[in-house]
Amino acid sequence: MAPETPGSESRETQETLSNLLNETRRFAPPAELAASANVTAEAYEEAARDRLAFWDKQADRLTWSKRWDTTLEWNAPFAKWFVGGELNVAYNCVDRHVEAGHGDKVAYHWEGEPEGDSRTITYADLQREVAKTANALQELGVGKGDRVAVYLPMIPELPITMLACARIGAIHSVVFGGFSATALSGRIKDADAKVVVTADGGYRRGAPSALKPTVDEAVKECPGIEHVVVVRRTGQEVAQTDKDIWWHDLVERQPETHEAQPHDAEHPLYILYTSGTTGRPKGILHTTGGYLTQTAYTHYSVFDLKPETDVYWCTADIGWVTGHSYIVYGPLANGATSVIYEGTPDTPHRGRFWEVVQKYGVTILYTAPTAIRTFMKWGDDIPAKFDMSSLRVLGSVGEPINPEAYVWYREHIGGNRTPVVDTWWQTETGAIMISPLPGVTSAKPGAAMRPLPGITADVVDDQGNSVGNGGGGYLAIRDPWPSMLRTIWGDDQRYIDTYWSRFEGMYFAGDGAKRDDDGDIWLLGRVDDVMLVSGHNISTTEVESALVSHPKVAEAAVVGATDPVTGQAIVSFVILRGSVEESDDIAAELRNHVARTLGPIAKPRQILVVPELPKTRSGKIMRRLLRDVAENRSIGDVTTLADSTVMNLISEKLPSAK
Ligand code: ATP
Ligand code: MG
Repeated sequence: MAPETPGSESRETQETLSNLLNETRRFAPPAELAASANVTAEAYEEAARDRLAFWDKQADRLTWSKRWDTTLEWNAPFAKWFVGGELNVAYNCVDRHVEAGHGDKVAYHWEGEPEGDSRTITYADLQREVAKTANALQELGVGKGDRVAVYLPMIPELPITMLACARIGAIHSVVFGGFSATALSGRIKDADAKVVVTADGGYRRGAPSALKPTVDEAVKECPGIEHVVVVRRTGQEVAQTDKDIWWHDLVERQPETHEAQPHDAEHPLYILYTSGTTGRPKGILHTTGGYLTQTAYTHYSVFDLKPETDVYWCTADIGWVTGHSYIVYGPLANGATSVIYEGTPDTPHRGRFWEVVQKYGVTILYTAPTAIRTFMKWGDDIPAKFDMSSLRVLGSVGEPINPEAYVWYREHIGGNRTPVVDTWWQTETGAIMISPLPGVTSAKPGAAMRPLPGITADVVDDQGNSVGNGGGGYLAIRDPWPSMLRTIWGDDQRYIDTYWSRFEGMYFAGDGAKRDDDGDIWLLGRVDDVMLVSGHNISTTEVESALVSHPKVAEAAVVGATDPVTGQAIVSFVILRGSVEESDDIAAELRNHVARTLGPIAKPRQILVVPELPKTRSGKIMRRLLRDVAENRSIGDVTTLADSTVMNLISEKLPSAK
């Protein structure tokens, strides 16, 4: 804790500022969990001895129609995994569990948003529904390699459609149900899809919300669309076009069996557009064998999944990669029982998530820092009303988790029993890459810790050299991994330029990171967001975490704004905790708190108290818009913003802060 004196400032500025945060709390794995953990420390050594043999072994979790000849063909930066192998993803996720006698096992406890609206779907049910849907798509003329756009709410028909596509070798492109007609038509055109699967609407915050009009508007711009399949979910009135066909008319009359053909290990499985936090979304292409291998392995190892007894719940929307890999493909490949929840956490009340945990006896919960910070803001008393003693592992994904949020999550949701795994990965990586293992790692709040067995992630400097312990720089991945993206759909050059041109022979993730003195990895936010203050790199994440560690702050976003003296100056936007009143001296109090926690150089120039922060629809803070505000520019592209009125609320706050 450096005192705020001019002398200490000059000393501070000598230090590398990616090492500001000094977090000393440690959480060892619970003894019982460690004793029966799926994966032990041995796995790291095994993978280090022979990485490809390690992945061969993980690929054997799957059922292959034809075994592969070569584990990896690396024609940098183009990878082929399990070359020559053939398998069917839907067979692996569904049929083989039924054949093994688990047909009656629950695949999904589906919980609709309206209370009392729930469905239980066993593996046998799923097999029948996927078969019918595969037959239906084939009747519509969808064949292997064709693209199918999927624009659905969180209802069972969504995973069913994805699996039906996978079964027949069609490539799905799921578009999050909150996106606009322009976003949807852009994605349909980019992938040249021929069918859209959608619904009349979905439930959102207690009321039906229409989807079909958005599809109609989008499809007008997309002559390549031949059919629009519509699920009746809300029963609301929908305009009919000559391309429309009701799901219940089409699917219900189909045969209940469908023979799955094997597909090449490198056959495309899906396209998914990144969430657009930093700019124009990219159509990330994932393929079959490597993707399923790594999602299955990581779901088994990172969550310590015991398929016979666990009830697993990932709260993401299936429209994001987290939902693809950890609601659909990973859990089903492992024969897990999962919960799918259709709605928002505050409908009809702010305890809904915990009510769902209690109702189904959820044992593993996987959610995002944005949700955790919201729950903190709502207050500790809400989760305290529910019995959540079933929980044994908690996960976090999507953004760096502030240490304070991590500790709150562990304590108020996990009852101080559960390990928290902070999982770093991206749409591009397809599956978790850096994470603690719950039975092995003594986790540090806010750190993703170590690359998983079989993954070679590193922190490198400008030149691509490892920084070593105690250094900060860029996160890079040295070797190809099974679930890596294969390209950007239709744009190999953009793939090369975006990911493989920054460092020779390494994958550039676009995130800043540091290695602490123990060699553990901390993610520091996006490289585009790093601030340069008086010649020193300062991470947005560390300043935000310092702000969130103040008892009056619920959430914070930090940006660097051009400053005549320091090059860039730190401007902070904060949301106060529910019961805290805004006062004149709050800004000074918070500025001093940051200076005390991180050192004077990290002291924000400005603190603005705001009612909301601009977030993408996946809940991530969009700092580039805040930078526009901080630098008095007109605000840039807001199309991926969840709520575009937020920027007006923030701009209104500006004059008072000057
Ligand atoms: P775009 O690439 O279009 O700007 P995006 O990067 O937000 O959007 P995703 O692929 O959904 O799209 O998110 C991946 C990014 O999320 C990572 O690069 C990282 O910045 C952040 N992230 C995810 N998990 C973590 C984590 N556990 N810790 C820190 N950052 C994380
Ligand atoms: Mg990204």
